[in-house]
Amino acid sequence: MKRAAVFLDRDGTINEEVGYLREPGALILIDGSSEAVRRINEAGFSAVLVTNQSGIARGYFTEAMLEVIHARLCAALAEVGACLDGIYVCPHHLEGSVAAYTRKCDCRKPQTALVKQAARDLNIELSDSYMVGDHFKDIELARNSGMRSVLVLTGHGQEEWDRADAVMRSWPDYVAANLSGAVDWILANRNRSARQ
Ligand SMILES: [Mg+2]
Repeated sequence: MKRAAVFLDRDGTINEEVGYLREPGALILIDGSSEAVRRINEAGFSAVLVTNQSGIARGYFTEAMLEVIHARLCAALAEVGACLDGIYVCPHHLEGSVAAYTRKCDCRKPQTALVKQAARDLNIELSDSYMVGDHFKDIELARNSGMRSVLVLTGHGQEEWDRADAVMRSWPDYVAANLSGAVDWILANRNRSARQ
C-alpha cells in the first residue's frame, strides 16, 4: 500500500529564513516546527524535505556543508523524537558560478523531479499527499504534482501572500500561521483524501 506524505520546504518553513543558510550555526528552528514534524511522523505520513539550495550553484557553500547543516537539522528534530524520512535537494541555478551546478534542471521547485523521485523511493501516493511551504513556488509544486498545499506565513510567507493576486490566493488549500498550524489543518482534513 502506498503511503501519504507531507512534503516540507526547509527555509522559512521549518527553520528561520536567513537568506542563504551557509553553516550549521545559523540554523534556528521556528518555534513549534520540530514538534509539528513529530506529529506528521506519529500520524503515519512520510515527512519529506524538498528544498532549493541554489547557494551551492552560486558557490556560497558546498554539498558537503549542506550535509553538515542537514545533520544538525536532523539532530535538532531528534531532540523531540521527530525525523525526516527523506531529504531531496536541488543544488542548481542558471546563474550559478560553479560549473557543475550551473544549468537548467528539472528539479528546482516548482518543477517536480524531486517529488517524483521521492514518490518512487518511498512508495508515496502523491494524490494523498501535501506540500507545506512559505513560497508560492511550493504551492505551484503541489499543483504541478497533484498534491494539496498549505502556505505558511513564516519566512517569506506573509510577504508572498501580500503581493499575490486573487488567482494565486486561491491556490493553497489552506493558509496557516506556521508549520504547527499547517499540521493541525492537515490532520483535521486528512480523511478527505489520505489512505492509511
Ligand atoms: Mg522557503
